[in-house]
Amino acid sequence: MAAGRRRAALKDRAPRTYRERAKPVKKGLLIVYTGEGKGKTSAALGAVFRALGHGWRVGVVQFIKGKWKTGESLFARGLKGRLDFFCMGEGFTWDTKDFKRDVECARRAWGKCMEMMLDARYRLVVFDELSYVLKYHFLPVGEVLAGLKKRPPQTHCIITGRDAPKELVEEADLVTDMRLVKHPYQEGIQAQLGIDF
Ligand code: ATP
Ligand code: MG
Repeated sequence: MAAGRRRAALKDRAPRTYRERAKPVKKGLLIVYTGEGKGKTSAALGAVFRALGHGWRVGVVQFIKGKWKTGESLFARGLKGRLDFFCMGEGFTWDTKDFKRDVECARRAWGKCMEMMLDARYRLVVFDELSYVLKYHFLPVGEVLAGLKKRPPQTHCIITGRDAPKELVEEADLVTDMRLVKHPYQEGIQAQLGIDF
């Protein structure tokens, strides 16, 4: 088969429900995984896995510190310089009685996010549970959106967490709302090693 015909045969002719652009556009995407169902952080970590496979440098900031050492943070220890992983939720007070302290903690974590975002060596950055600190007004959404706009044009950014504010959803290129259909928690089954943390 001649090269031209071979190329034509390989062309993707799948039906599309969206507008095709004349010229393919490559840009760093702003991706939001939100909703009540499980899978938001897992989806972000799936993208991290993929990006690392392409030799990209990846940065992760987790805004909430869980009870357990997560598999992802343990795994990242061996990948410093390729996957830089920061759990910055240490200071959050769950009963939000100390608003000032929560704001300071959120600000520290956001400072780390900005530092990574402005460093063009990172092709993908993940801000896990950032929506939590926006929901509780520990950080103004306007400031976060302005910061996101400063990242280099090729840097992809994934933000996770329930109740993503509408301003963030409007700004994002890709938004997936995880819908809760069933969760073992509803049957009294506790969080499981390797699946939940
Ligand atoms: P994951 O980290 O497993 O992808 P997630 O990021 O979508 O979950 P979070 O809101 O961050 O969900 O909650 C983290 C923890 O709560 C996980 O252990 C997860 O299994 C659990 N969880 C997620 N969704 C639900 C739910 N609808 N009901 C009960 N527990 C949930
Ligand atoms: Mg999560």
